[in-house]
Amino acid sequence: MARFKEGDPPVPKGVAKSDLQTKVCAACGRPFAWRKKWAKDWEAVRYCSERCRRTGAQKPDAGWKRPPD
Ligand SMILES: [Zn+2]
Repeated sequence: MARFKEGDPPVPKGVAKSDLQTKVCAACGRPFAWRKKWAKDWEAVRYCSERCRRTGAQKPDAGWKRPPD
């Protein structure tokens, strides 16, 4: 199931229309919302987290594979 790091809020549901944009993570396929830290790079952001960025970069066509912990 969805797990989020501390200080990593889940995608808000039913949020009033705002400037919040969302994308679908290219690695895990989950939607994620705009974050302030991505303000400068939002157009280039493709992954919801650093882990997904690594996973997606390594295996762009292999689909989701649970990385070893
Ligand atoms: Zn992801």
